[in-house]
Amino acid sequence: MTKKFFVVTYGCQMNKHDSEKIVGVLLAHGYECAKEMEKANIVIFNTCCVRKSAEDKLYGNVNSLKTIKDKNKDLIIAVGGCLAQKEGSDLQMKMPHVDIIFGTHNIANLPNLIESAKGGRRVTEILKVPSSKIKDLPVRRENPVRAWVTISTGCNNFCSYCIVPYARGRETSRPFEDIVLEVEKLADEGTLEITLLGQNVNSYGMDLYGKLHFAKLLRRLNEIDGLERIRFMSPHPRDFGRDVVLASAECDKVCEHIHLPLQAGSDRVLKKMKRGYTKKDYLALVENIYKMVPGCSITTDVIVGFPGETEEDFSNTLDVVRRAKYDNAFMFVYSPREGTEAAKMKNRVPKEIKMDRFARLLEVQNRNSLQGNLCLVDNEVEVLVEGESKKNKDVMMGRTRTNKVVNFPGSTSLINTFARVKIKEARSWSLKGELK
Ligand code: SF4
Repeated sequence: MTKKFFVVTYGCQMNKHDSEKIVGVLLAHGYECAKEMEKANIVIFNTCCVRKSAEDKLYGNVNSLKTIKDKNKDLIIAVGGCLAQKEGSDLQMKMPHVDIIFGTHNIANLPNLIESAKGGRRVTEILKVPSSKIKDLPVRRENPVRAWVTISTGCNNFCSYCIVPYARGRETSRPFEDIVLEVEKLADEGTLEITLLGQNVNSYGMDLYGKLHFAKLLRRLNEIDGLERIRFMSPHPRDFGRDVVLASAECDKVCEHIHLPLQAGSDRVLKKMKRGYTKKDYLALVENIYKMVPGCSITTDVIVGFPGETEEDFSNTLDVVRRAKYDNAFMFVYSPREGTEAAKMKNRVPKEIKMDRFARLLEVQNRNSLQGNLCLVDNEVEVLVEGESKKNKDVMMGRTRTNKVVNFPGSTSLINTFARVKIKEARSWSLKGELK
């Protein structure tokens, strides 16, 4: 029987990149990718546990396979990723028809786990720390010119609302030279843009070298021939030193886009969140970035309705959002994650107040985004073309160095190349233009 697998991915870029490793490992062991889940005899769910909604969706999707599994006993269902890492074998009790539970550090051993699960055995394998195999995993990249590159895993910060340190473990940096070698190889193979991934990229190196090495890494990668764009996700405002701002300013390949999670604008809430910076620190950093990296786009994450958030706290958040002039913001209504410190906090903000604050925040941010985009009308920008627009096949979609989405009429031959586009129209979330 051919061994066909199908991977379902939830969550962030880190998880999407882990799925590329899952696919790479299984292909290297003679498995084949199935185009649809129904054609697969192994279905792998790569899970996320950051938000409760992703967890609920997973249970729904895995449970929907139960009737298929009842009819086809040979179907193997595997659940990996953050939720599996956090819950371990408890997941199997919640979903008894799941055959394999594997952690974020166990991808290399997945082929063996699949072999072990044949014949109906239930298998669980969760490594608490990464093994040395992680860096050598084969990767099946989804895109020939854009690539994710992991520089560290885990996080030491324990922000009070966040489950990541419990799910992904402590911060572990990849050796500097391993990252350089991977990026050199990618550039040789035609990759134009890389995104460096870590939960807290700018604390990179502390565990390995005893000091922060992120700026040094940016400068070294900037020297690699063939590579055109370097992005990173996500830095922590507390660790964003002047050296990283300087490297961003001086390295021509480092894109003028910084995602700088704010979370809240009130010092009182920031302290309860254990973020390690104040509103003043944050705004000073934003000012410094705008001053030293001309034309830089800053985007952010904001949580509305953290336990105990008052109207005054919220007005501080609105104040930062107005003053920082974000180009985009991922805004979330706070929902407790079991196992975090914040989940035990009293003074929950009533739902209707959270929703009202969310709507007000959205309005301010929509204005920011539109304002930022309107400034680009009549300007010419460089876009890396990603594909056809979702709505119209004759329209291409690409991204500027500042990570703005640009749609323009063009042919599919432009996909995965750079194009010069003149901006004709601005909306809050995208730009429209025409080829130069
Ligand atoms: S820095 Fe805070 S929010 Fe980010 S992953 Fe670490 S604990 Fe979570």
